[in-house]
Amino acid sequence: MKIAVSGGGIAGTAVSNLLASAGNQVTIFEQATQCQAIGAGIMLQPSGQAVLDRLGILATIARQSAKLEGIEAFLLSGRPLIELKYGHLGENHFAYGVHRGVLFQHLLNRCVQSKVDLQTSTQICDFCDDGDSVHVIDQQGTRHGPFDFLVAADGARSRLRTAAKLKSRTVDYDYAAIWATGPCSQVHHRLHQVIDGTDRLVGLLPIGNGQCSFFWGLRTDHYEELVQRGMLAWKQEVIAMCEPAAELLDSINHFQEMTFAGYRHVRMQRWHVGKVVFLGDAAHPSSPHLGQGVNLALEDAACFADALTETGTFQQAAVRYQQLRQRKVRYYQSLTRMLTPFFQSDMPLSATCRNIGLPWFPKVPWIRRRMLQTLSGLQDGWI
Ligand SMILES: Cc1cc2nc3c(=O)[nH]c(=O)nc-3n(C[C@H](O)[C@H](O)[C@H](O)COP(=O)(O)OP(=O)(O)OC[C@H]3O[C@@H](n4cnc5c(N)ncnc54)[C@H](O)[C@@H]3O)c2cc1C
Repeated sequence: MKIAVSGGGIAGTAVSNLLASAGNQVTIFEQATQCQAIGAGIMLQPSGQAVLDRLGILATIARQSAKLEGIEAFLLSGRPLIELKYGHLGENHFAYGVHRGVLFQHLLNRCVQSKVDLQTSTQICDFCDDGDSVHVIDQQGTRHGPFDFLVAADGARSRLRTAAKLKSRTVDYDYAAIWATGPCSQVHHRLHQVIDGTDRLVGLLPIGNGQCSFFWGLRTDHYEELVQRGMLAWKQEVIAMCEPAAELLDSINHFQEMTFAGYRHVRMQRWHVGKVVFLGDAAHPSSPHLGQGVNLALEDAACFADALTETGTFQQAAVRYQQLRQRKVRYYQSLTRMLTPFFQSDMPLSATCRNIGLPWFPKVPWIRRRMLQTLSGLQDGWI
């Protein structure tokens, strides 16, 4: 089949690899002028690792990552809020802290090897589906195609989602995070976070090679104020909360060196229409608090590619893909939506509830197991 993929991110490159390896002719349209290794650190959970293993790139990525044994969060007072260790699920359970760029580069290399055609500087704004085939339309109004079908993998702010006019509910959070990567010799083998109320959150995620990915949560409309206050005042505030961040902050001189990322939650009833199917953040973006986005995107790619091989037709594959993925994705989306206000919101009371309740949950073995399965990306639904 001739397949168009809009968006050369994680879902787009992963699905292109799998579809091209199955003998299809795949073209990725990417809006960026160059496909390059950008982004901050992400947690590669066992669910995402399984897909990368299948693509034959897990071992190489693992060598360029940090093995994570768990996550921990502390209150400003130093009181532990939560500690979860993957080892409680079994010996071979762990996550990797990895720079998104490393993951992306390996997916991209595999695309080149699989002879995927990559068209950069091409922003897909619309499509034209005549029932037999589909054309994609770029920012210049140029039509590309025909294709047998189109995979929309154009991320959280998907233009194709709007073009497809599928029913959806969107929530843009008032909260965001700024990210940076740099040297950090004090945090190893775990995601380390410090949280104060529901408005101040700082985290360090080891990503290998003596580096950590640093993030600072803030209200979206406080960013300008932060920049006005200046780098020095902000660094002092962060270090007072999280001393191990000092080394990394030393390597940053301007706010422009950091990445600002807002959060969006979109819930769509259907992830396919006509000859178009939605994958990854284009289908189900969430806030990053459970750290599942990349992992869900990788699983979507594998699930859809398998459904196409099994059913042989796009229509059946799209239906099967949604049937197989819906329950799990809905679980993660709903849980993330529920939990986000306990970590970043304008509701201080939710911090009080969190501080009382959360430390107790992992003490109950059944709850701890559920929490770990969820964190690992292995929980398939509420039940
Ligand atoms: C602050 C933050 C922290 C996160 N931390 C984690 C984490 O720890 N673990 C985790 O698993 N996930 C994390 N995520 C989520 C993760 O980054 C996303 O869920 C994941 O990247 C989704 O992959 P995707 O391929 O669907 O979208 P993306 O990776 O966003 O890729 C979309 C691609 O489409 C391109 N594109 C967009 N529009 C068009 C267009 N019109 N035409 C052509 N190309 C287009 C973009 O340039 C991009 O290359 C985090 C997200 C944020 C914001």
